[in-house]
Amino acid sequence: MDVVVVGAGVSGLTCAVALLEAGAHVRVLTAGAPAGAVSAVAGAMVGPVFGSGDGRSLAWERLSDARFRELAEDHATGVRIVAGRLLSAPELGPGLPAWAAQVPGFGGELGDDRLPEGFSAGFAVDLPFADMPVYLAWLVRRVQQLGGSLEQQVVADLGQLAGADRVVDCAGLGAAALARDDTLTPVWGQHVIVAAPWVTQFAMEGGAARDYISVVPHRRGVLLGGVRRPGRNDLTPDQVIAEETVARAAVAMPALADAPVLGIEVGLRPGRPDGVRLEVEHVGSTTVVHNYGHDGSGVFWSWGCAADVVALCGLPS
Ligand SMILES: Cc1cc2nc3c(=O)[nH]c(=O)nc-3n(C[C@H](O)[C@H](O)[C@H](O)COP(=O)(O)OP(=O)(O)OC[C@H]3O[C@@H](n4cnc5c(N)ncnc54)[C@H](O)[C@@H]3O)c2cc1C
Repeated sequence: MDVVVVGAGVSGLTCAVALLEAGAHVRVLTAGAPAGAVSAVAGAMVGPVFGSGDGRSLAWERLSDARFRELAEDHATGVRIVAGRLLSAPELGPGLPAWAAQVPGFGGELGDDRLPEGFSAGFAVDLPFADMPVYLAWLVRRVQQLGGSLEQQVVADLGQLAGADRVVDCAGLGAAALARDDTLTPVWGQHVIVAAPWVTQFAMEGGAARDYISVVPHRRGVLLGGVRRPGRNDLTPDQVIAEETVARAAVAMPALADAPVLGIEVGLRPGRPDGVRLEVEHVGSTTVVHNYGHDGSGVFWSWGCAADVVALCGLPS
């Protein structure tokens, strides 16, 4: 089966690898290099946040978690297991949700000594994190090792890709034009990158109705994030929000307040009110499998969604 994958962010490259592993011939066509995709900006936690998850995404999460834990055994992938704390926003009320103990890597409920002020619950957990610039480069190499190819090309019409038995649409926000999906919305976010080599553990708040705490140590620095602005559609760093982010992070780790800032990265998550579009559509004589709209969980869901794409293409998983 000849498959054209549109897009070389984490969704497209992961699908390409999964399709090649299932025996397809794969060409990836992408408007921009992987390093310029929003995927390169992600803090890339492979783990749940409080308050998320339906049956479909839980299945993706289980599959992805297992695959990322395997990848963490190979240093070259840029994936590693990081210890840290998942913190429940105060509005969720006291106590851990029942599912918390089922999270792979669960390390027990946090006692008062490890729970930052203002949080009613939290737990220790070891989760995979991908250093995205390294991981995306590894995915590209993996596509090529398996016999796939990557070409820079803007696709204007999903129905006009000659010679493809299947077209897999992983265009992220680009699917707004490509699939004529006017529900896709940019969800603006940014990371303040600080030099704080003493920070080796992550902290992530879930369930907040406002900006939340997100502290993720990576090779390029510690990423401080937790900002979502649906509808904001520019890539300009915001200094005011950056200062608020640093102050918020210092609640979980006070030493971060004085850490020197190395830079700010901005990214637009591909948001969609109905969640990920993962389904088949016939466009003229072309069978298209859409896989876009992952919002803030595209890395976490990547291997699970790729398995569904393989099945929707009619290939064995
Ligand atoms: C600040 C921030 C933090 C985040 N943290 C996390 C996290 O901790 N965990 C997590 O799971 N996710 C996180 N995310 C979300 C994650 O980055 C996205 O869900 C994910 O990157 C989406 O990947 P994608 O491949 O679908 O889209 P993209 O990365 O946007 O890739 C789309 C690709 O399609 C190509 N394309 C577009 N249009 C066309 C066209 N017409 N023709 C050809 N190619 C085209 C583009 O060039 C690009 O290669 C975060 C995002 C941000 C901004």
